[in-house]
Amino acid sequence: MPGDKKKILIVDDDEMLRSLAADILSAEFEVTAAVDGQDGWEKARELRPDLVVTDLMMPRMHGYELCGLLKGKGGLPGVRVLVTSSKSFTTDVSQAAAAGADDYLVKPYLPGEMLKRVRALLGLGGAAPKPPQEPELLRTMRRPAPTADELRVAPSAGGRLAVYVRFWGTRGSCPTCNPKVAGYGGNTSCVELRVGDTPLIFDCGTGLRELGDSLAREFKGRPLQGHIFVGHTHWDHIQGFPFFTPFYNPANKFMVFSVHGAHGSLGRIFTQSMSLDYFPIPLSSLAAKLGFVEMKGPADLGVAKVSFKHLNHPGVCIGFRVEAQGRTVTYLSDHEPFAKLGGVSDLSLRQDAEIAEFARGSDLVIREAQYTEAEYASRKGWGHATYDDAAKFALESGVKRMAVTHHDPYRSDEELDAHIDYCRGLIGRGGGATDCFGAREGMKIEL
Ligand SMILES: [Zn+2]
Ligand SMILES: [Zn+2]
Repeated sequence: MPGDKKKILIVDDDEMLRSLAADILSAEFEVTAAVDGQDGWEKARELRPDLVVTDLMMPRMHGYELCGLLKGKGGLPGVRVLVTSSKSFTTDVSQAAAAGADDYLVKPYLPGEMLKRVRALLGLGGAAPKPPQEPELLRTMRRPAPTADELRVAPSAGGRLAVYVRFWGTRGSCPTCNPKVAGYGGNTSCVELRVGDTPLIFDCGTGLRELGDSLAREFKGRPLQGHIFVGHTHWDHIQGFPFFTPFYNPANKFMVFSVHGAHGSLGRIFTQSMSLDYFPIPLSSLAAKLGFVEMKGPADLGVAKVSFKHLNHPGVCIGFRVEAQGRTVTYLSDHEPFAKLGGVSDLSLRQDAEIAEFARGSDLVIREAQYTEAEYASRKGWGHATYDDAAKFALESGVKRMAVTHHDPYRSDEELDAHIDYCRGLIGRGGGATDCFGAREGMKIEL
């Protein structure tokens, strides 16, 4: 009797594949077909099938959305869903599973395989299929997060460790690529501070990719332990994160330091930035041991101490001061002086003085300046400083050296040379002794 047969709805916009599936299934089941996701959703509500066999890429409504509707609130309780797709990407399998698919069959499939999967899903013999697995490539080598203690490196017994800074990304806001910026570089914020064999990394802009490759070459065959400090999580400061090769080596360990985000934990922000809508490999699949530390005060890394200070930038943003082996480096990006944005008041002057004080005594300050005074007029409130601000800061803090960074994406090398000269001139005329220069990608400074 037809009424005893289980009901199957086939949803596919390809007529040939639709009738192929119908041919395979109609001897045993009551089969209805729909021509796309929207049609499928409408027919599913009307017919209440036991199983929906759906394609993924369809006009009007794709298969993920249909899965979500069928399995979600207001969907069909108890309905099983088999996704059939020619897409064999690990991301699609994981994403279909997340949307509620009970099984995933890659096209082209053999009729016998289709029947087997359908019978199993409907409880008609055969082992019930396991829900779609994250395939081999994505199967995580999930390991517990390292602790900050585990990564602490004991200060060396004899002599001071070598300390140097290398710039891997000096561009602000957006990666930039054209011959006019080749001198200062187009990768976004990333600075390496090396203390002996321990890398401290400041910001994870696109410059992080090349730093990762360089570290992978250097540490070939040796485990790498590093500390990553993120001033804030705007795109230009995190976009290189998933491209950091050492994350894909299970022997490596990293701690990521910042503060709690305005809308959630630090770990959550990075997890979301690598969710499948943005990147094909989820953060949980990274092979290296990775931990997140929301700083409440200074971090003691053994070979270095790192403290932080809140800066004036939209959202949560902090700067860092590193004391290592008798040297001090301060990293301040992105920041718009308080008095510049809010007007001169006792409070704003005190807040600006505190930032200068935070940097005082540094052998090197890496700080941003993105605009000229003329440009600033139309960019007030964007959270960035001018070359005049940087000069004023150098005079107030009296630091030895100042690398100006976070260059505007529209700034050519020629213009930058002129603006840095201008900044240096202001410091000289103000009676300052700070050695001011523009940060260039690849530049290495021994300290
Ligand atoms: Zn920025
Ligand atoms: Zn920013």
